[in-house]
Amino acid sequence: MCIFCQIVSGELPAYKVYEDDKTLAFLDIYPVNPGHTLVIPKTHYQDLEDIPETELANLIMVVKKVGKLLKDKLGAAGHNVTENNGAVAGQIVPHFHFHVIPRHAGDGHEPWIRGKYQPGEADEIIKKLIRQSAE
Ligand code: 5GP
Ligand code: ZN
Repeated sequence: MCIFCQIVSGELPAYKVYEDDKTLAFLDIYPVNPGHTLVIPKTHYQDLEDIPETELANLIMVVKKVGKLLKDKLGAAGHNVTENNGAVAGQIVPHFHFHVIPRHAGDGHEPWIRGKYQPGEADEIIKKLIRQSAE
């Protein structure tokens, strides 16, 4: 059983932030900032491709609640919602989850290093994304 399934079953402890029949939210053991919360379906799905849309809809509503809690109770100035799919994207635990990360001015956690498209590159990408899939 995966580590998050063990938290759902109660075999492993966690600091629970929110729970309903389908969803659990608990503190990440290695927080980016204090209050960093993971929102998971109680059923095991591997990633965004795997999880059914109705389950995803439940989860995102809980993500919204948690974001408000972080603001109202911990004074977060904002928050990031992230979600990793696959080891190459940083997914360590293969049980679908959203990270809800409280943010404070000057906390130093600037996400993503960005680049620029080379001439013609965006055209090639959009062809692959849209035109080829419509063929
Ligand atoms: P991922 O990299 O898969 O998107 O994120 C997995 C997250 O789970 C990590 O941020 C990690 O700190 C957290 N994590 C891993 N093991 C445990 C655990 O046993 N308990 C809790 N509460 N969080 C965990
Ligand atoms: Zn699991």
